[in-house]
Amino acid sequence: MKKFLINSIYLATEGEGAHIGKPQIFVRFQGCAIGCINCDSKETWDFSGPELELSEVLTQIEKLAQREHGRVNRISITGGDPLHPKHSDQVELLAGELKKKNFYINIEASGSRVVDKVFDIVDFVSFDFKTPSTGVKTPLRNLQKMTEQYQSKTQIKSVISDKKDFEFIFDIYSNMSDEVKANLNWVITPCFEPHEEFPRERFIQILELNQSYGAPFRFIGQQHKWIYGPEKKDV
Ligand code: SF4
Repeated sequence: MKKFLINSIYLATEGEGAHIGKPQIFVRFQGCAIGCINCDSKETWDFSGPELELSEVLTQIEKLAQREHGRVNRISITGGDPLHPKHSDQVELLAGELKKKNFYINIEASGSRVVDKVFDIVDFVSFDFKTPSTGVKTPLRNLQKMTEQYQSKTQIKSVISDKKDFEFIFDIYSNMSDEVKANLNWVITPCFEPHEEFPRERFIQILELNQSYGAPFRFIGQQHKWIYGPEKKDV
């Protein structure tokens, strides 16, 4: 059986997106070939590092799940890019095992692939729709497939650096049907440039832009960065 290339497994409180504030166990896969310019976890790009057996991954998760006064039952599968073909078989296997143990599973998807065998198992997909400032293009057909096939368990997430980014996604949003818009869960997150403590001006600009366009998106910042500082990992 293929081994699991893992960056880290840790307990933390979700710092962004629709599940912000919920404690969960993060399983961070090592390796990503997407190459976002403003990536805040470039240390996860290399496809090299410790390789674990499935049983070792599950043991670490169970150890973290058992707390003094109860059990944490939420998992976030993230990366890196957990849906890269080098990881996706292992993610499918892991998700299947975790569902047998009644964990709620969220997966962080880069947007470059719709992987049915994984999305059919997990409870929630956080699906990136990349903006121009990332230097990466998410295929529109992927966004369409997510809104058609996985709407009820999906949030679309876009990192916004400036007005150009905002208008780029607004243009795509505007061309969606009323039916899709009515059920859409699209979250925008202001970008933190490397080493920025808290980009207050950017937050205000993007928040107000969203209001001035009729508030099509849900505005959620990355709270772990202002709680712990932008450099701290595994929080
Ligand atoms: S997909 Fe995620 S890990 Fe990969 S480069 Fe982009 S932000 Fe970084």
